[in-house]
Amino acid sequence: MITLKNINKSYWIGENRLHVLKDVNLTVKQGDFVTILGASGSGKSTLMNIIGCMDNFDSGSYELDGLSITPDDEDRMAEIRNHKIGFIFQKYHLIPQYDVLQNVVMPLLIRGVDRKQAIERAYQAIEMVNLSERTDHLPNELSGGQQQRVAIARALITQPSLLLADEPTGALDSKTSEDILTLFKELNAKGNTIIQISHDVKVAQAGKRIVYIKDGVLSDTESD
Ligand code: ADP
Ligand code: MG
Repeated sequence: MITLKNINKSYWIGENRLHVLKDVNLTVKQGDFVTILGASGSGKSTLMNIIGCMDNFDSGSYELDGLSITPDDEDRMAEIRNHKIGFIFQKYHLIPQYDVLQNVVMPLLIRGVDRKQAIERAYQAIEMVNLSERTDHLPNELSGGQQQRVAIARALITQPSLLLADEPTGALDSKTSEDILTLFKELNAKGNTIIQISHDVKVAQAGKRIVYIKDGVLSDTESD
């Protein structure tokens, strides 16, 4: 479902080149639950942004769902990002003045889905993350774990091919982290393909497979 081949990415700070991703190869099959595990600064978020079509790369090739990703075509990147990928971040990124239902339904309304149908789907997504009792609460009336559940429901509502989670439990205590990881396992068992990134071995073990990244070098046993 995902094939990255020899991906390179550098940032330029003035005259200085920072080579962040070095010939990265990664293969992820549909239905997998992969964790990219590595220390802070190893290039995890950069790789995640490339997989999520949020950032371009300098060389190499990337195929997602049979589509070849062309980093210089901004419109096509946005199209693929909006239709194929659900994002989950460490800091939830909920809209503070929207309640749970409004946050979750928003991606469908933006995409022009009929309002009644969109709301129906939002209730289903909210039920999937066990927050049906909280649909009219604002984010600041929820715990961190509950806010992350809202973010997960919002990511799921467009039925993306791939869920991308960047340090999804990074802001949560260990018990709440376990609950979120259990939810990911349930979603994966229902067929969702998940890539999460983490610096925490315990979090990584929740997935089916761990791929290590160190100083921009990835070791993926499924790619060769
Ligand atoms: P991780 O998520 O593993 O902590 P990142 O992918 O965020 O690592 O960052 C990898 C390296 O690239 C770090 O040294 C970071 O400082 C640098 N970096 C990340 N984003 C940028 C940017 N937009 N411009 C310049 N350097 C960046
Ligand atoms: Mg990061």
